[in-house]
Amino acid sequence: MSEFFRSCRDSDIALAPCPICGSASELWELKRRQEATAVKVVICANREPLEDNDEGCLLLIPPERFYRSTLQEAADVWNDFAAAAELSRKDKELEKIAMMTGEK
Ligand SMILES: [Zn+2]
Repeated sequence: MSEFFRSCRDSDIALAPCPICGSASELWELKRRQEATAVKVVICANREPLEDNDEGCLLLIPPERFYRSTLQEAADVWNDFAAAAELSRKDKELEKIAMMTGEK
């Protein structure tokens, strides 16, 4: 079986927006030559260079742990990562506010 990379759609699966650039996210199915079965992954839909990164969003090609055997698992990994990224962003904002208001 050859390699492929194709877009999947599942309206039952809710995806958080990209935690890095805030763009929409997409479910993809990927079959690599060295693997017997296709894997599923959520990627950032933004193909444009970013203000602070000419190569575009890091999550256009996510790290290995984002590749899962089912769409739901791939969505869970993505959503967990997005939630964690959101929390750490909020923490940093709170820290900044605390510093500005002299509470820390
Ligand atoms: Zn992105």
